[in-house]
Order: sequence, then structure tokens, then C-alpha cells
Amino acid sequence: TKPYNPVVLNAIVQSKIERYRELRRAMERDSLTGLYNHRTSKDKLATAIQQARSAQQALAVAMIDIDHFKKINDGYGHPMGDQVIRSLSWFLSQRLRKTDIIGRYGGEEFLVVLPAADTPRAVEVLDRIRHDFGQIKHPFNETWCTATLSAGVTQLHETDDAQALIKQADEALYSAKRAGRNRIVSWE
Ligand code: GH3
Ligand code: MG
Ligand code: MG
Repeated sequence: TKPYNPVVLNAIVQSKIERYRELRRAMERDSLTGLYNHRTSKDKLATAIQQARSAQQALAVAMIDIDHFKKINDGYGHPMGDQVIRSLSWFLSQRLRKTDIIGRYGGEEFLVVLPAADTPRAVEVLDRIRHDFGQIKHPFNETWCTATLSAGVTQLHETDDAQALIKQADEALYSAKRAGRNRIVSWE
């Protein structure tokens, strides 16, 4: 109501903006890792597909899954499992580009979208991540454990939508698991 105090008005607007940001974050992000959640990852992929099409650029999509994760949970406990999930999400954030999309798609499954990259490029990038992640010693009490990951990679073809790309990446991931895990497999 008028007359208003500009300082108070400013404070009210500021706090509303902050509240809005918090709400949006809670809706879009996964609470364990801070990465995009399942729903948002899919939405971001759909947008990235549109952008790649209009810019006539390549787009690669990868589905990453931690190998034998149940053994980590069973052998070291659920909190340690959570810790390994957090390490991988942090590691992905460090190693990928700002423009790449990283989402926690499921329990220990991550969806990664690499704009302007084709399958060979994405395989190269992810294989380095795979190798280096496997070297990390995750501290546990007086000792440590290691974990490996597998990934399936595909790229945008003419008629693909988000669902189709996710399915292809999933199929390639399944092949990587069947071939013995700790590897990156491309869909083609
Ligand atoms: P694979 O190499 O075939 O992927 O074997 P896996 O043991 O990783 O197989 P699977 O995907 O079936 O197991 C995933 C397990 O992850 C099952 C579930 O109990 C556990 N899990 C899912 N979400 C979480 C989580 O947020 N924290 C922890 N600690 N465990 C989780
Ligand atoms: Mg797994
Ligand atoms: Mg899994």
C-alpha cells in the first residue's frame, strides 16, 4: 500500500525471489546430488534436441550406471552407497562442460547430454571419466573402496525424440553390462 518504503519493498521482493529460487531448485533437482532429477533431465534433453536440430549440430546422449552397486551397499552400508553416488555426481560435474546436461536418472544411474558432440567424441570423453573414476579410493572407516561404471552412448539421428535416444543409450548400457562392465559401449 502507498506510501511505501522502498527499502522494505526491496526486501520483500528479494525474499520472494529467493523463495521462488528455492522452490524451483527443489522441483528440478535431486536432493542427494544436486543434479537435475529424472523429470528435469528428460525435459532438458528434449530442449537440447530442438536446439541441436535448429543449429544443425550433433548431440550425444549417455546413460551411466555404477557397476555392482548392490555390493557396495551390502558390503559397506547404504550411507557409503550414497557417498559413492555423490562422488560420481561431483566428478561428472567437474569433468563435463558447463553446457552439458547431467541428471540423476535413477538410483545409481545418470543421464548425460553432450551438445555439439557425436558418439565417438562422447565415448572418448566418457571413457576418460570411466578410467579416472575407477581410480578413486572412496574412504570408508580406516580403509576405502573403489567403484567402476558402465555407460551406453548414442547420438541424435534424424527422427529421434528424447524417448528414442534414452532407449538407445539404455540398450547400449545393457550391452556394456553384458560384455563385462567397466566399459563404454556405443549404440551403433
Ligand atoms: P549392475 O552392475 O548390473 O548395474 O549391478 P547393480 O548392483 O548396480 O544393479 P542394480 O542396478 O540392480 O542395483 C542398484 C541398487 O542401487 C539397488 C538399490 O538398492 C540401490 N540404490 C538405489 N538408489 C539408491 C540410493 O539413493 N542410495 C543407495 N545407497 N543405494 C541406492
Ligand atoms: Mg548398477
Ligand atoms: Mg542401475
